[in-house]
Amino acid sequence: MAWFLNFYRCARCRRIWTDEWSCTCDDECPHCGARDMSPFDSENLTELIERDGDEFVAIRSPDTAERYPDYREVGRFPTREKAEEFLASMDSGFEAAPRPGMTDI
Ligand SMILES: [Zn+2]
Repeated sequence: MAWFLNFYRCARCRRIWTDEWSCTCDDECPHCGARDMSPFDSENLTELIERDGDEFVAIRSPDTAERYPDYREVGRFPTREKAEEFLASMDSGFEAAPRPGMTDI
């Protein structure tokens, strides 16, 4: 399951708000209560890289997450570039063909 930060703009009161969800679904305006507003933009938060001291921690929301991201640490790297490389390599084929012997995550 992916995890998204959705950006909404209300068609009625024109206010803007954001919401995190496991899909790019419609939301209700928190300001005036107008329903079924579709996000005008969304940012994929399935994978994140956070700095922890001298290390960069790669974090991923597993496919089993639904109502909350349930982030898991998948690796620590000396540079942000290495962490990005690792996450990119997980994307290519990891979900389609999980290797035998790999558990968790
Ligand atoms: Zn509104």
